[in-house]
Amino acid sequence: MNAPLTIRDLRVTFDGFTAVDGVDLDIRPGDLRFLIGPNGAGKTTLVDAVTGLAPATGSVRFGDHELLGRPVHRVARLGIGRTFQTATVFEQLTVLQNLDIAAGAGRPVRTLLRQRRNIPDEVAAALETTGLTAHRDRPAGELAHGQKQWLEIGMLLVQNVRLLLLDEPVAGMSHAEREATGALLRRIAADRTVVVIEHDMDFLRAVARSVTVLHAGRVLSEGTVAEVRADPRVQEVYLGE
Ligand code: ADP
Repeated sequence: MNAPLTIRDLRVTFDGFTAVDGVDLDIRPGDLRFLIGPNGAGKTTLVDAVTGLAPATGSVRFGDHELLGRPVHRVARLGIGRTFQTATVFEQLTVLQNLDIAAGAGRPVRTLLRQRRNIPDEVAAALETTGLTAHRDRPAGELAHGQKQWLEIGMLLVQNVRLLLLDEPVAGMSHAEREATGALLRRIAADRTVVVIEHDMDFLRAVARSVTVLHAGRVLSEGTVAEVRADPRVQEVYLGE
């Protein structure tokens, strides 16, 4: 199920310090939204709050479901998944085994690895989408940095995640890997929703459908790439960094 993400008056406070300070955000299904802002703006904390990792007040709705107050695994069960800056894959297992395990979340790993005869449709589709088909029998630990990130995204796809939250997916990538990642995100956003925390402005210009700029825990500006770039408040914040 895909659904709009509706955030209202979101606040996250750490020991009296307000990291997210009354954020309203609407992300429609199929959006490819970039979240930008200077270091410490609250981007990661906002994503943490959506996924159940940071205690927050206000409201975060995915379709009809209120997410705040749900533990992480119950947020995940609604079809919301994220990646972190460092890819977390099983290095000793092959690409295919990593995807199998993600697809069969909840089933015993031994059974999954032993019983696989045919590649399940969703796993084959994820291999194809992420461009990893030719690498499916390689241990994940041998993959290039970019391929590991794509595998991690593939692991969300096979879990039927509808809202993907990606934390700096192109950090450390080569130019070619960035281009491939941009194309991958656009393919994914054809029928899912993607939110990307990003610092790389060239990547943003090439890939984003919409942009939200956070500053000091608040939404500073929002719109298309062109609208946000033309906003004097955004220029001020970035020049003042
Ligand atoms: P961004 O991702 O935009 O760089 P963060 O969300 O990581 O910003 O951080 C926002 C602010 O909240 C920063 O000032 C950071 O120091 C603070 N912060 C984040 N997590 C914690 C925490 N667990 N405890 C205390 N302060 C935190």
